Amino acid sequence: MRILVTGGAGFIGSALVRHLIGNTEHEVLNFDKLTYAGTLTSLSSVASSPRYSFKQGDICDERAVATAIQDFQPDVITHLAAESHVDRSIDGPGAFIQTNVVGTYTMLTAALDYWRGLEGRRREQFRFHHISTDEVFGSLGETGYFTEKTPYDPRSPYSASKAGSDHLVSAWGHTYGLPVLITNCSNNYGPYHFPEKLIPLMIVKALAGEPLPVYGNGANVRDWLYVEDHVRALQSVFEQGVPGQTYNVGGNSERRNIDVVEAVCGVLDRLQPREDGHSYSQQITYVADRPGHDQRYAIDAAKIADGLGWRPLESFESGIEKTVSWYLDNRNWWAEILDRTQAATRRGLGG
Ligand code: NAD
Repeated sequence: MRILVTGGAGFIGSALVRHLIGNTEHEVLNFDKLTYAGTLTSLSSVASSPRYSFKQGDICDERAVATAIQDFQPDVITHLAAESHVDRSIDGPGAFIQTNVVGTYTMLTAALDYWRGLEGRRREQFRFHHISTDEVFGSLGETGYFTEKTPYDPRSPYSASKAGSDHLVSAWGHTYGLPVLITNCSNNYGPYHFPEKLIPLMIVKALAGEPLPVYGNGANVRDWLYVEDHVRALQSVFEQGVPGQTYNVGGNSERRNIDVVEAVCGVLDRLQPREDGHSYSQQITYVADRPGHDQRYAIDAAKIADGLGWRPLESFESGIEKTVSWYLDNRNWWAEILDRTQAATRRGLGG
């Protein structure tokens, strides 16, 4: 198949591209604007493949999107390009509305136009797969899980913009018959994760001997999924998923933020002990909470497990070990990003 990936230079998009080139026969076009969050160095292992190509462009640019689609003639569009950092959405929501809502509208318009021009099997088999988040469902108390039927209740500008984009995708399916798929996934972690997100931020700050800032009391709970498990889920959804359906994807690995940070410190203590012999966990400091911080997210992933046979392969413990090892072995990748973007700066204070 020919797969157009938007946002393929980002964290999850690059993992998807590496997976598709490394483990399938599919051809991939990566369409990415290369914002602060995108870097082609995450794709150096596949860049020379004849099945991989890259086009720099903005998903809000109608003409660029239409040209990329017409030239590449995709069988599947997997749409990951987005502004993705909650803290940045608190400081500057406008970019989130533009990219996540308007950009998704632009993608849908171009995809519908293209799909209407297809014939026969190619028209039947075409899929528009929108990659979204569990954050659209809002916040849970101590019990319960998000299912595909949970009502939307987004709380941050980021999750509201993703909810808006999900509704647009769903409407294009219902109204125009575009064969759409939506996946709502929990927090991802793994290699090539931009070092402003919790796990890589803690790794790079720990190694720099800096305080490890944990929001509030550290008791907010997220369900963590290793990114390579997520991209296998995406592949099973666009290859076998039923058009018009949504699928929740989760790692069955609920952890409090403080436990995640302690786990990172524990692996670092073993792999790269501090010179003074103390644990990195001594660097943990509690800082003022993120405004509107959702308490708990947890995913019921039974539908994708039962329907498509997908299950995560990594436990949180095995995934965090691989992740910390990768950051220790690939300092050039993140050092260059830190120099360029000042990523390891606290955001989300609304001012
Ligand atoms: P990311 O921020 O690492 O990457 C986003 C990519 O999109 C970057 O390469 C960036 O250059 C590109 N991009 C941004 N604006 C663009 C535009 N206007 N035109 C073209 N390209 C643009 O994000 P990520 O963590 O890889 O997330 C990918 C998708 O998965 C997002 O839609 C996000 O909402 C969703 N998601 C993320 C998580 C997570 O834990 N990271 C969990 C669930 C869902």
